[in-house]
Amino acid sequence: HADIAMYRAKKLGRNNFQFYTPAMNEESLERVRIESALRNAVERDEFVLYYQPQLDIKTGKIVGMEALIRWQHPELGTVPPGRFIGIAEETGMIVQIGAWVLRSACAQNKAWQDAGYGKLRVAVNLSARQFGAADLIENLASVLEDTGLEPEYLEIELTESLFMSDITPAVDLLHRMKALGVNLSIDDFGTGYSSLSYLSRFPIDVLKIDRSFVADITRDANDEAIVTSIIALAHNLKLAVIAEGVETSEQLDYLRRHGCDEMQGYYFSRPLPAREFEQLLIEGRGLAPEEMIAPEPAP
Ligand code: C2E
Ligand code: MG
Ligand code: MG
Ligand code: MG
Repeated sequence: HADIAMYRAKKLGRNNFQFYTPAMNEESLERVRIESALRNAVERDEFVLYYQPQLDIKTGKIVGMEALIRWQHPELGTVPPGRFIGIAEETGMIVQIGAWVLRSACAQNKAWQDAGYGKLRVAVNLSARQFGAADLIENLASVLEDTGLEPEYLEIELTESLFMSDITPAVDLLHRMKALGVNLSIDDFGTGYSSLSYLSRFPIDVLKIDRSFVADITRDANDEAIVTSIIALAHNLKLAVIAEGVETSEQLDYLRRHGCDEMQGYYFSRPLPAREFEQLLIEGRGLAPEEMIAPEPAP
């Protein structure tokens, strides 16, 4: 417990007094463990990327993939991103991790293109914290050059939080990213608290409808209204729109009928290890037209 006490003392400063319940101790203990284990994770090669297919809703074909990080720690086991990305952001380690993700995802996608599976797009999540890194643009440019991936096949996923505060550096950076030729998308669209005005001022290409809206799309009139409004908003702004978290044929049918461009979700596939994703490509897997239409309700 001594190291935890020290950790807290450092974090809180001398004049903060707080009470901790056993549950909170458990939580901060885990945090300390994760934080220290994270420091060596890149060198020790403990991260892997999974890839989730993104399908064109009209054709049912795979047109892209989202790269999602997984951490295999020898003692902690598989740590999901929800448990370490936040810590990596707070400590700044996300900059190094994010650079590894970007390079690996671009190299993998280029390898698949070279293998003859067609020209698919790869989407990479970029943490707001990575915008603080001085070498973001240089790194992006050198990854594209080193891997040989044409920039139009890279999509950078941003979150709305990027547009909420101190907007000036972001404008400039986004234009410089766009100038490299990559696509920019807004992840979890609709869940942030930012004003919509950034959509007209930033060079955005794609909106990703958050899965919380998709979940009840066929049951909740409010979610229906939100989703159809996001699709209309995207198309009026000449942006493409992709739905996340599509789990059923009913949801897919609804999205298809309302003109959503692409889908991603467990209905077609969970995020897969590279080898399994490649198997989908080898088999030319996609969704058949009849799989994209909801079954008729029983009479
Ligand atoms: P995200 O970018 O919104 O990624 C989509 C998440 O939804 C993924 O969770 C994916 O597995 C999950 N998902 C996809 N389809 C479905 C579905 O049909 N149903 C349900 N219930 N979930 C679905 P995952 O992989 O656990 O990642 C969680 C979050 O962690 C990501 O959300 C992203 O914000 C962050 N993340 C993951 N990889 C990276 C990374 O390389 N860099 C950064 N900065 N963040 C990452
Ligand atoms: Mg994402
Ligand atoms: Mg998302
Ligand atoms: Mg999400």
